[in-house]
Amino acid sequence: MYADIIIDITHEKLDKVFQYSIPSHLEGMLKVGTEVVVPFGRGNKETKGYVTGFSREAGYDVAKIKPVAGIAKDSVAIESKLVALAAWMKEYYGGTMIQALKTVIPIKRTERVKEKRRIRLLLDEEAGKKALDVYLHKNQKARARLLAALLDEPEQEYELLTRKLNITRAVVRALEEQKIVALQSEQVFRNPVKHKVREREEVRLTDEQRHAIGVFWDDYRQGKRENYLVYGVTGSGKTEVYMEMIDRVLKEGGQAIVLIPEIALTYQTVMRFYGKFGDRVSILNSRMSQGERFDQMERVKAGEVDVMIGPRSALFTPFPNLGLIVIDEEHETTYKSEQVPRYHARETAMMRGKMEGASVVLGSATPSLEAFYGCKRGRIKMLELKNRATLRELPAVYVEDMRKEMKAGNRSILSDHLKELMEERLKKKEQIMLFLNRRGYAGFVSCRACGYVVKCPHCDVSLSAHKNGKMVCHYCGYEEPQVNLCPSCGSPYIGGFKAGTQQVEELVKRQFPSARALRMDMDTTKAKDGHEKILETFANEEADILIGTQMIVKGHDFPNVTLVGILAADMSLYSNDYRAGERTFQLLTQAAGRAGRGSGKGEVIIQTYSPQHYSIQMAAAQDYEGFYKEEMDYRELMGYPPVEQLLAVLMTGADESMLETAARYLKEFAQLADKDKELQIIGPASPNVAKVSDAYRRVLYLKGGDYKRLVEAKNRMEQYIEINKGFQSLRIQFDFNPMNVF
Ligand code: ADP
Ligand code: ZN
Ligand code: ZN
Repeated sequence: MYADIIIDITHEKLDKVFQYSIPSHLEGMLKVGTEVVVPFGRGNKETKGYVTGFSREAGYDVAKIKPVAGIAKDSVAIESKLVALAAWMKEYYGGTMIQALKTVIPIKRTERVKEKRRIRLLLDEEAGKKALDVYLHKNQKARARLLAALLDEPEQEYELLTRKLNITRAVVRALEEQKIVALQSEQVFRNPVKHKVREREEVRLTDEQRHAIGVFWDDYRQGKRENYLVYGVTGSGKTEVYMEMIDRVLKEGGQAIVLIPEIALTYQTVMRFYGKFGDRVSILNSRMSQGERFDQMERVKAGEVDVMIGPRSALFTPFPNLGLIVIDEEHETTYKSEQVPRYHARETAMMRGKMEGASVVLGSATPSLEAFYGCKRGRIKMLELKNRATLRELPAVYVEDMRKEMKAGNRSILSDHLKELMEERLKKKEQIMLFLNRRGYAGFVSCRACGYVVKCPHCDVSLSAHKNGKMVCHYCGYEEPQVNLCPSCGSPYIGGFKAGTQQVEELVKRQFPSARALRMDMDTTKAKDGHEKILETFANEEADILIGTQMIVKGHDFPNVTLVGILAADMSLYSNDYRAGERTFQLLTQAAGRAGRGSGKGEVIIQTYSPQHYSIQMAAAQDYEGFYKEEMDYRELMGYPPVEQLLAVLMTGADESMLETAARYLKEFAQLADKDKELQIIGPASPNVAKVSDAYRRVLYLKGGDYKRLVEAKNRMEQYIEINKGFQSLRIQFDFNPMNVF
């Protein structure tokens, strides 16, 4: 046996695993993750490294392989644990050990990253203007320039501003000494000027909340670390529950990680945690550079932080005494990585929890089928919050059948009922949100007169219109020519569904010329903080109508919104994806939850061509369990996750015919290797976007009842790909239980 060892895991050049032999006195003592001492380089310098795996055969000349010298004495246990987690991720999700290690361990940058600093005005407007007058009077132009800019915008990026205004360090120092400005590093969570920090009101937990915490705490105190799902509608007080759980874990000397989807990682949310835990809290976000992340992790190792909040990647925070991992909005698709290894944070958190003795608490109003199924099978304990914490009524939901609107001669994007309610809200000076569902939109073909959608006869997912005039199934490759008349009712109004936020905005402006409308989509949020700014404008009631994509569904609370219009609810329903129904239900439920967060009673209008679809019906009735039953029936019938397991093999290459051949070979190999015929192997098909920047793509799907069989198949394919030259020019990735079809 040989040990694969990686030297200096935090180094940027983390790109090679070295083989060492295992001397007899260490036999059986090394595990994946063990920190060892090995002779390295020409001088055989004693160097530390981590065991990342084992192999039976020597990769090169046996005579040149050196033996492991010993196990490191003062090893950093947390890194061993993360290396072991990486090894599990490599096995469970595919890819190389190096890719897995780079995912879990922050890499040090060789070049020094410059610290980004912010400059902040310490005076209020009045005092600031006085000081400005003084500078102008004394003809201190540079000081005046700086102060005027800060009066415009009290907090700005230091380097940028001083360069822009041509201000020297000395000028800044003078203002610092006068206590007019202060510099602070980006890491400090910022913006105390623009937002008022609300004092934390002590809440009296409801019986339901106390019960949920009690169940968790009884287990925890007895040393039982389990997985839980806090299942409760928006506003039921889940966040309060997490915070209480964390508080108790911290008091026992443990640490906690809180995963929140980036889009919901708003100032409001973060301040709630700050309010309770003060500066023991730290935050990660995707805008941080590698250096900044590395520094954060160093702070964690130094014991300065006990609670880390962040998106998916915060899961790998190196807490030595991790007691709890919370995953809020666990159903969010962003918890699945799009890079190799394509891990899911939910499963990986459960694995880390198991390895390190930490509990995992998932939370959602609309749990993923995976989590709910986990509860039904006893893998996850359900903690239910049935009521809203603050006795607010749920909104009234109406479903508008757009086929009827069409028959009645209304071809507009807005139904008559929605227009009517909008007018009424504008009169009452209440706010409106219009949500255009464009998630997962992939060019399905539907009839506006009867709602018919063209589907694959084999897979029961919708066909996608391609530019070549064909409609194609992205699972199995089935195709047929595009239709001009509806096969169901003969109407010519059949085609792709096209409407963008911009068109909606134009229409709204024409319909309601005196209303102030804001649009939030990819275009209007490109600028830094663009997203926050729009939400803030709307929160300050400087606009009446907010039009947007799924971005507007999360995060901020808008107490004055009493009407939510969901345009084109169908758009996500017929994406060519087995998760379409689930995604639609979640989006509609969340969007509906936006109405009536304040004192006013909310109303929600769902516009659809498929009012009979269970995702829409159950969302309108706010009936998760009803939805769950229907959706599980469908998954079971079709053999989709979570009932069965699915492995997508994505293949990319520059030469299409070679790619096609390779894909067929790989399929054949997978079929032959599956001796007991336990797997169903589908494809190769052309993905949604068959060609991206001159590279063609193909995808194979493997389906089976047992995840382990798929892992074995993946391992065999990885070996086959490695030894066959024909695959060398292709890029091949594995994706287990993918979030979308490719
Ligand atoms: P969720 O995370 O389930 O959406 P939150 O924890 O954000 O719910 O709670 C929603 C609102 O209700 C928040 O403003 C919160 O401060 C408040 N809240 C939660 N629990 C209580 C309670 N026990 N008493 C009073 N207010 C509460
Ligand atoms: Zn029709
Ligand atoms: Zn098909």
